[in-house]
Amino acid sequence: MLRTLRSTRAVLRAPAAPQQQRRALSIHEYQSMELLGKYQIPVPRSVAAHSPEEAFKAAQSFEGKGMVIKAQVLAGGRGKGHFEGGLQGGVHLIKTAEEARDYASKMIGHKLITKQTGAGGRICNAIMLAEMRAPAHEYYVAVLNDRATQLPVLVASNQGGMNIEDVARDTPDAIITTPIDFEKGLTNEKALEVAAKLGFSSKELEQSAADTFIKLYNLFKDKDATQVEINPLAESKDGAVLCMDAKLGFDDNAEFRQKDIFDLRDVSQEDPDEVEAAKSGLNFIKLDGNIGCLVNGAGLAMATMDTLKLNGGNPANFLDVGGGATAEAVKTAFELLLSANPKSLFVNIFGGIMRCDVIAEGIIQATKELDMTVPLVVRLQGTKEAEAKQMIKDSKMKIFAFDDLDEAAAKAVEAAAKGSL
Ligand code: GDP
Ligand code: MN
Repeated sequence: MLRTLRSTRAVLRAPAAPQQQRRALSIHEYQSMELLGKYQIPVPRSVAAHSPEEAFKAAQSFEGKGMVIKAQVLAGGRGKGHFEGGLQGGVHLIKTAEEARDYASKMIGHKLITKQTGAGGRICNAIMLAEMRAPAHEYYVAVLNDRATQLPVLVASNQGGMNIEDVARDTPDAIITTPIDFEKGLTNEKALEVAAKLGFSSKELEQSAADTFIKLYNLFKDKDATQVEINPLAESKDGAVLCMDAKLGFDDNAEFRQKDIFDLRDVSQEDPDEVEAAKSGLNFIKLDGNIGCLVNGAGLAMATMDTLKLNGGNPANFLDVGGGATAEAVKTAFELLLSANPKSLFVNIFGGIMRCDVIAEGIIQATKELDMTVPLVVRLQGTKEAEAKQMIKDSKMKIFAFDDLDEAAAKAVEAAAKGSL
């Protein structure tokens, strides 16, 4: 079910503003760099700073050779992004500690807006400084799980850098995908084959790239990663293979055995309402319509939204209460649903493990305590359905109850259009 929900989320969010995905934890670049270092994966020397003054001090050790200052937000496309305060670009090449302080003051405390953050952007609370190692060529490398082969794959391209999305769209042949045996890992032979195809300027560098691929996979496997993306992996002008940017994702289901990684979670990069929902054991997904949906189960969530769409409506969000929610959690659920100012609310519950009477109790509590004026359409079926219906009836609340999904959805759409019933 988590799997379904994860893909649901990906599909639903792709076109709009994708938020941080809680089901695949992301960590900051400076944390990723440290982790890569532990695997002896070659990275430029780097250090994080959380204030302009800290950046000034840290930058002193890089003066002379020059350095790169990079905004730390959990989103890609920083290089081409812009700050709310006006600064263009989340990655800059600089020379002095004074410049580091100046850029840090324009980055820290400001929101960076990139292709991946949506218009709201994401707050930058830290910067990373890295020693200057000029790239002679930029490559793209990633380890991912591949649905088609049901294996991890190494994805590589010799046209890495900031335009990789265009490369994938316009010249898909420039991307090499190599399946990896999950247990055995990446063999030196295969890794070398990929490195040779990418093309490095010497046999030594080719071997160094191959070693890097192997270690990236080992990290991927050991740490229960869902994604290890290096863009760019560079051949530097001073003759080294280096990972210059890393975006790592980790499977939330592995939290219990990856404590050190999950301790790095930064909730300032997540949607506060979704964080709140997770605390109550609820799955909350924001969308861009005007009908709030309370459901149980990912499948029913999909069916509910499809039915609303078929009836000409558009969900504002959906909240999956799962199987074990209490009446109190249902009330929290309503608070979250209402935060989007929906024009109507649609409750569609199939009572199995989740009992309809518990939902009804939560609904009635919420309607009373939250002073709800939004029209509420309810469809309850299954365990303790009769009791639930009686409770709603006895409450004398203005709740519209239906047995048929299509009728209920049509009513919710009508209510949203009119703003009342
Ligand atoms: P992204 O836009 O969020 O993926 O940020 P990146 O970290 O990939 O930075 C964007 C671009 O800045 C890269 O494609 C490189 O050209 C450049 N860049 C990033 N890190 C370094 C670095 O450590 N050294 C140098 N010289 N350039 C870098
Ligand atoms: Mn990058």
